[in-house]
Amino acid sequence: MPSQMNQGAALTVTSKPRKVGRPRKNYDDEIGAKYHYLRILLVYKRGRSKRAGPKVKARCLLCKRTTTPRLRDVRSGHTKACPKCYRSKVFKRNCQRVVDERLSDAQLSDIWVGHFLGRSREDLGRDFRWPWAIIDFAIRKYQTWIDALIESEAGVELLQAIRSRGEETDLIAIEYNLPIEAVRYVAKAVQNKQRSLALKEQRTDEDAEWVVQRIETRSRNWNEGHYPREFTPEELRLKKDGSVRGRYSDLYSDCIASLAISGDEGRRTPHERFIELAEMTFTNRTKRQKTVAIRKLKEEQDKREQFWVNQEGFDQMASVDRDKSEDDV
Ligand SMILES: [Zn+2]
Repeated sequence: MPSQMNQGAALTVTSKPRKVGRPRKNYDDEIGAKYHYLRILLVYKRGRSKRAGPKVKARCLLCKRTTTPRLRDVRSGHTKACPKCYRSKVFKRNCQRVVDERLSDAQLSDIWVGHFLGRSREDLGRDFRWPWAIIDFAIRKYQTWIDALIESEAGVELLQAIRSRGEETDLIAIEYNLPIEAVRYVAKAVQNKQRSLALKEQRTDEDAEWVVQRIETRSRNWNEGHYPREFTPEELRLKKDGSVRGRYSDLYSDCIASLAISGDEGRRTPHERFIELAEMTFTNRTKRQKTVAIRKLKEEQDKREQFWVNQEGFDQMASVDRDKSEDDV
């Protein structure tokens, strides 16, 4: 029977009711309609029961598979997605609720430590008497906290505390209300983060140094579109919206970023020189564009005056005027 239902044709406009009485309902409007995670493709003619109404062929927008729920259920929201997707959605929501409502912070941190020490979800599930799915959600929740700590100012402070009095890890753990393993983990992560930032800064400086040397020794070259000591538009250009584009735009934003980090005064760093060159290029370019615009405007004006003079037939005056303007230049 279900296979027959799948082959059922779409219910289209009924021309003449075969029986006397109420005409068959028209579901054309439903085709293409979206309810929650389902889009209706067809309304089946066959396979409808009097009370439950017709079934539909619908696409699940989560997994792109088709499913055949009843139109009534789809419209009422009783069916929101294909059975597989809906079940997994409900499952995830229930797991999250258990973790949020029934697991204490201490349990969460114990589970995380167990995971950190390399124990399997199944083992932890047995110890804590929860299905392993719950264990998974618990680990994820605690990890989110830890990650936030690593990104925050408190993470940097924790690393400093470890550096200055490393033998008191257990005391620091109590101060931060964290298990010792988490303290070590956070300290290590913050250290790695700082190290990779420093590395990136160093690389930026090296790149900037190389580019700055090339630009500073650059002479005028019309073929390449060079102006002396300037970037070409292909290398770096300023858009009207203030964004910077071009081959070196990434390096430019890296330089801006390291400008914000390094506050040391005195010696000018390569990234500072890079930004100076870029800004000089932009102002010079704007100046040139203005000069060109003004010249064009003047030419236009001259032309217009010329036109009116000719129009009125004062040819004599026009030639005098032209001579005068040439003298002015
Ligand atoms: Zn689905």
